[in-house]
Amino acid sequence: MKYPNSKNMSENTYNTIIVGGGIAGLTSAAFLARAGQKVLLIEKNKECGGLVNLFTSDGFHFDAGVRALEDAGIIFPMLKDLNIQLEIVKSPVSLGIENEIIHIENLDSLLKYRELLIKFFPESEGEIDKVLKIIRKIMKHMDVLYGIENPVFKDLKRDRAFLFKKLLPWLPKFIFTVGKINRMNLPVEEYLRTFVKNPSLLDIISQHFFKNTPAFFALSYFSLYLDYFYPKGGVGKLSEAMKNKITECGGEIRTETKIIEVIPDKCLVRDQNNITYKYENLIWAADLKTLYKIADTEGLFPEIKTKFDESKKKMLKNRGGDSVFSLFLEVDEPPDSFGKIANGHFFYTPSKLGLGETHREGLNYLLANFEKVEKEQILTWLDKFTRLNTYEISIPVLKDPELAPPGKTGIIISFLAEYDLFNKIQNAGWLDEFISELENRVLNVISDSVYPLLKDKTITRFSFTPLSIENRVGSSEGAITGWSFQKSMPVINKIQIADRSVLTPVPSIYQAGQWAYSPAGVPMAILTGKLAADRVIKKMKKLRKT
Ligand SMILES: Cc1cc2nc3c(=O)[nH]c(=O)nc-3n(C[C@H](O)[C@H](O)[C@H](O)COP(=O)(O)OP(=O)(O)OC[C@H]3O[C@@H](n4cnc5c(N)ncnc54)[C@H](O)[C@@H]3O)c2cc1C
Repeated sequence: MKYPNSKNMSENTYNTIIVGGGIAGLTSAAFLARAGQKVLLIEKNKECGGLVNLFTSDGFHFDAGVRALEDAGIIFPMLKDLNIQLEIVKSPVSLGIENEIIHIENLDSLLKYRELLIKFFPESEGEIDKVLKIIRKIMKHMDVLYGIENPVFKDLKRDRAFLFKKLLPWLPKFIFTVGKINRMNLPVEEYLRTFVKNPSLLDIISQHFFKNTPAFFALSYFSLYLDYFYPKGGVGKLSEAMKNKITECGGEIRTETKIIEVIPDKCLVRDQNNITYKYENLIWAADLKTLYKIADTEGLFPEIKTKFDESKKKMLKNRGGDSVFSLFLEVDEPPDSFGKIANGHFFYTPSKLGLGETHREGLNYLLANFEKVEKEQILTWLDKFTRLNTYEISIPVLKDPELAPPGKTGIIISFLAEYDLFNKIQNAGWLDEFISELENRVLNVISDSVYPLLKDKTITRFSFTPLSIENRVGSSEGAITGWSFQKSMPVINKIQIADRSVLTPVPSIYQAGQWAYSPAGVPMAILTGKLAADRVIKKMKKLRKT
């Protein structure tokens, strides 16, 4: 279907403009283009995908952002709805502490996890059993939440079988489960502390989650480990497939185009070359603080302007959540040498001691007294931080043998990192030195523990910091999953009202992506992208009728 006035629109006028070609923006654009709208997707980088991306270096393929995907009842239904065929493989996960590694294969692996924890914390068997009981309970809730294909991607008018046989019987269970999970919204550290008294155990369970992650979300990770899959060719193939779908459906994509001004009363956006584009609807699928900073609201109706200004205050007061540091290694060693140790997606903690409060307290002290502290103090802190941390290690070639030159292996080692530390060090003028010190320490820790062969066999190394993420995708504080978890979240954070998350105070502007709903990640970015597209389609249909 073509929208009646699409044909008559002047060159730079669109039914819907989507700003941000990450997975959220790609989703919105794909569904709107399929619906026959005149659509323009604007992306500031050369390539689309945002944090769902891949790049190649010396023949090694690396995932630049997320390392594997979770369906979460969202990604597969979305692909099916758009008729996109994506070749995928499972992305099995291993978990390791010091020299013990387990491979997560199915629900029974939870027992292996129990044994692993008991081996290191035999005195805390009772506490471990309590944690596992909760994880099991959460896994049951997750089975309900993700138990059916997300109805947002179903045509409920036509697919009566889904409506009557799946959706309606599922709804009461869903409502019951939502009630349960909303009661587990407090920060995971706080939640676990009520029954885990051993601080090292608490750290080992929780230190690779973002600070203050809601307990339900954090402890659902065991379910997610079983859900991970990997597109052949790399995670970025998902973005590529979406991009192709948009163009196939007649949507337009403009890359290397950065929006620097939004003028809502005139329905215009302006790019870095001073070119303006006119829209009927705008979907902002990029950093939300940016939208509020660059919007010129002078011409808006007073009540809309007031609401917008209130939202702006809330947004600008809040921060992006934790960011990540990633070390990329090109290694002259065949994949098998790594494959016999752990799977290609591996969460590894080299020391059972755990980061402890010294990490946050120590870091907070360094940040608060940055002008006074010596470089040596920061590097001493860094020693401890790298020794006691948990690492997400990804080896793409173990998931797809095409992803490295023959006989060689590319490895990505990452961990949560504090944006402010990198920012302050950059301002103090020694960022390159700090990065090199950090890379050395990470390499030493990992080669002294799980992969000794890294020491002599690494050919090339380079890394991305929270500042690189901020620069590349324009994400506030280098955040990778939107807002930091805090008491007053500036966006919707309840699944039962997720459909409202895409609304902004301006009726013609919608929001989508990691900043629109919390907690976020790839599935929620996709879901909000679709919800925003649905709102636009519904509104346009109504308008066309009148
Ligand atoms: C290392 C790592 C591991 C992760 N692990 C997981 C995981 O296990 N599970 C999970 O669910 N999620 C994970 N994530 C997070 C997930 O990748 C992101 O939350 C998600 O991809 C965000 O998608 P988005 O489209 O909302 O935003 P983004 O990917 O940030 O896309 C926004 C896009 O907008 C563009 N843009 C910004 N400003 C402008 C402008 N002014 N004009 C034009 N374009 C603009 C950017 O260039 C970017 O392409 C991980 C991320 C990283 C980096």
